[in-house]
Amino acid sequence: MPELEPVIGLEIHVQLKTRTKMFCRCENVWRAEENSRTCPICLAHPGTLPVPNKKAIEWTVKLGLALGCEIASRALFHRKHYWYPDLPKGFQISQYDVPLASEGHFTLPTAEGDREIGIVRAHLEEDAAKTVHVGGSAGRIAGAEYSLVDFNRGGTPLVEVVTKPDVRSPEEARRFLQLLRQTVVELRISDAEMEKGSLRCDANVSLREPGGEFRTKTELKNMNSFKFVADGIAAELERQREIYEGGGEVSQETLHYDPASGTVEPLRSKEYADDYRYFPEPDLVPVEPPAEMVEAARAELGELPSARLRRLEPAIGFDLAEGLVASGRDTLFEQVPGDRRAVANVLMNQFAASGVDPSHVNAEELGKLIDAREAIPRATFAEAIAASGNGDFSAERYLAEASISDEAELDPIIERVLAANEAQVATFKAGKEGVLGYLVGQVMRETEGKANPKVVNERLREKLSA
Ligand code: ADP
Ligand code: ZN
Ligand code: MG
Repeated sequence: MPELEPVIGLEIHVQLKTRTKMFCRCENVWRAEENSRTCPICLAHPGTLPVPNKKAIEWTVKLGLALGCEIASRALFHRKHYWYPDLPKGFQISQYDVPLASEGHFTLPTAEGDREIGIVRAHLEEDAAKTVHVGGSAGRIAGAEYSLVDFNRGGTPLVEVVTKPDVRSPEEARRFLQLLRQTVVELRISDAEMEKGSLRCDANVSLREPGGEFRTKTELKNMNSFKFVADGIAAELERQREIYEGGGEVSQETLHYDPASGTVEPLRSKEYADDYRYFPEPDLVPVEPPAEMVEAARAELGELPSARLRRLEPAIGFDLAEGLVASGRDTLFEQVPGDRRAVANVLMNQFAASGVDPSHVNAEELGKLIDAREAIPRATFAEAIAASGNGDFSAERYLAEASISDEAELDPIIERVLAANEAQVATFKAGKEGVLGYLVGQVMRETEGKANPKVVNERLREKLSA
């Protein structure tokens, strides 16, 4: 059997960080006392009417533009019906056949060239409330004793981005998601934190003969980290491959990835209801984004992460450029003066490990530090990097310290000076110790004055009398 090819399409939910909810004036906050951010509208009391959040519409347009989408001149809201305690109206206001943004594409740079991931749509909807399953295993509904509902999240704005089945590997899915996240963060429309649930990703997965007909797909739900997205897809591809190798057929189902066991299992929940009985929301007029609003959003886009990656790549190579962009450390990278590769390397290694917030760093001072990194003892350098986010950070103190003591740094230089000055060494050994000053001077010259003369003096003496 020929090696089967993975076919992956992603559905990504992005929580917008608007000040208020999608159809009411309740505050849109991540953490607050349960059910404290609710009102008759988002609790679906009879007789209430939704009023759309203009900002949420503008931000969806903006994201749509960043994804190369067409913006609808007249988009519709639809009711999507299902019954679940997280949905007090019994339907979710969403978009259906006429979303705000559609037919886009996302350029995913790779070391081998660009990959285009088609975007089916980016639509605006309201989020459901949050259910908390108590008792049983790992907060899942299966086996829970009871469930609680927090309506603070109910009715908050959510953009759903749906890709075409253009993704070809778990790794590609992860990289796409990371760059999409960075795009959303830079547009300042969402925190897009997977751990917090403000960025959520479902994956549709199937296998096919290379370039052949699509086969039955399964849907993997709610993987809450970049790693789990890649791992979950890989586990599901493996499961399907085994089914095909055994002569079986994959059946269409919704699956849950369990990172603890690395396996996927069927999900039993509302997802099984597949007839949503969509119909146009009668309480809302169509959304007609004015041309001026669309153009203003387009003008605000700026350079997108994919383009920035390509711009940075020539100086530092693909991997460092991708690492910087995907981690959001690229802004700082561009501000820090000095050797490009050295700066990129430090930012992706010691700096990344320090956990310092890049936006708190004085770039000039960090540049001085990186410039002198080879003269600074490892531990001191790490300490300096960790302090680089403090408001009053100055590299000077650490540079001074660099010149003091590190024997491991000084020894090779001292050895070099001794080797290059055989005559003076002989003179010293013959008893004329006055020549030591000359040798110290040579070491100082080699280190551009940074070595501590006292330490150099001691080390030279030790070596000469060894
Ligand atoms: P559904 O009707 O099941 O929701 P859609 O056509 O709306 O399916 O597509 C949902 C997602 O599934 C999209 O991201 C799409 O790219 C992806 N998808 C569609 N067909 C396949 C397939 N054969 N294998 C993998 N993903 C697919
Ligand atoms: Zn409300
Ligand atoms: Mg669908």
